Amino acid sequence: MIVMKFGGTSLGNTERIKGVGEIIRKHLDRDPLVVVSAVGGVTDLLVEVLKKAGEGTVAFDEVHDIHYRIIEDLSLDETVFSMDFDEMKRILIGISYLREVSPRVEDMFLSFGERLSAKILARHLTRTGVEARMCPAYDYGLLTDSTFGNARVLEESYREIPKRIKDVEGVPVVTGFIGKDRNGNITTLGRGGSDYTASIFGAALGAEEIQIWTDVTGIMTADPSVIERAESIEHLSFREAGELAYYGARVLHPSTIMPALKKGIRVRVLNTFDPDKPGTVITEHAVSSERGIKSIAYKENQVLINVESTEMFMAYGFLARIAEAFARHRVVLDMISTSETTVSLTAAPGQEIEAALREIESFASVEVDYGKTILCVVGERIPEAGNVASRMISALEREGIKLEMISQAKIGINISVLINDEDIEKAVKALHAEFFEKRADA
Ligand code: ADP
Ligand code: ASP
Ligand code: MG
Repeated sequence: MIVMKFGGTSLGNTERIKGVGEIIRKHLDRDPLVVVSAVGGVTDLLVEVLKKAGEGTVAFDEVHDIHYRIIEDLSLDETVFSMDFDEMKRILIGISYLREVSPRVEDMFLSFGERLSAKILARHLTRTGVEARMCPAYDYGLLTDSTFGNARVLEESYREIPKRIKDVEGVPVVTGFIGKDRNGNITTLGRGGSDYTASIFGAALGAEEIQIWTDVTGIMTADPSVIERAESIEHLSFREAGELAYYGARVLHPSTIMPALKKGIRVRVLNTFDPDKPGTVITEHAVSSERGIKSIAYKENQVLINVESTEMFMAYGFLARIAEAFARHRVVLDMISTSETTVSLTAAPGQEIEAALREIESFASVEVDYGKTILCVVGERIPEAGNVASRMISALEREGIKLEMISQAKIGINISVLINDEDIEKAVKALHAEFFEKRADA
């Protein structure tokens, strides 16, 4: 069997949903399980509508109309959806009275995006002759912890999913992005989390392939919305794809690779609007590429933290004390660099950082700088290629871009630099030109 995940852009309107139906039909001989995101733009809209409700205004019409138009155009039975719309509206009215949205209620409300799109697609498939069932992921074994907004999937999901999915008649159309915790509360897996759902179902069911259908032809040499000349990459290793996803290549949610890697399941990233193109295949092994680097990625809006020892030159245990403070507050650190008396680190912004910094301030002086971007080049062959770091740094310096930190490990498959957010576009363009547009010596 295969897993086919369709993102929001692939489900943006009636025509696109019909197109998705055709793609699924062509893959019926491979026994597909389908995973869907909400209709394009709906999750953002639900976030906005919740915010307004928290301020006392109920604004449900646009949410209703986007879905209703599709339901009507596809000639689906409207009454099947009215309970969902009524429930959503009741929740908004409740919130508008209370003027408060808890993370638990937010996740429950956001789940309607995927519940509606899965219902729409399953009903459309059945109406057009492909027997299909809408499957809320949480009723089919997807259990998570209770971290609302960014829940982690529990191991027992891998045992529950196969037991529950086997009795589904027809093509299962599973809701991406959502699960339930042990108390029965709906949770969400973080923005873009439907890719992760696909990978979990693929791993749990021992799929032959996990297909991520999106609006671009595979993973590219850089984000095509920034670099017009970005090219599709034929093949990536799990390590390369994992690094790219972690460092901000939105095309894959960062947690997608791990479940596939553990089970050795091939992942393929494909274009819904150009379905015959092979896209990008991600497997365990690296395929040697003529170029040292495969792609460029970046993560914006990071925090740079400089810690200076106030007591003495860096004694043993100093780095450990800093790391422990961050670990206690569950702050994930990315880049790190040390000198004799200072340690520079980067992390994503958030309240946890503030708490960790208060602890560190008791034994060191701390300086914090916001608005930084980690920019990296990724490729298994970087360590052998030799001159990647020097080419990267020169290309950025030629553009007058200030580098705040530089990091390359001996066996690492990426080289990262820290720059200011406002330099991103210029920097990505400079690196793409250096590594991918200079045919002769690239
Ligand atoms: P979906 O709705 O299918 O989940 P996303 O918007 O989450 O789609 O991801 C696809 C988008 O990811 C592309 O439109 C592209 O702009 C962006 N992207 C960022 N980096 C890359 C990359 N290296 N390769 C391809 N797309 C990328
Ligand atoms: N609908 C969710 C989001 O917009 C999940 C996803 O698209 O993968 O974040
Ligand atoms: Mg996505």
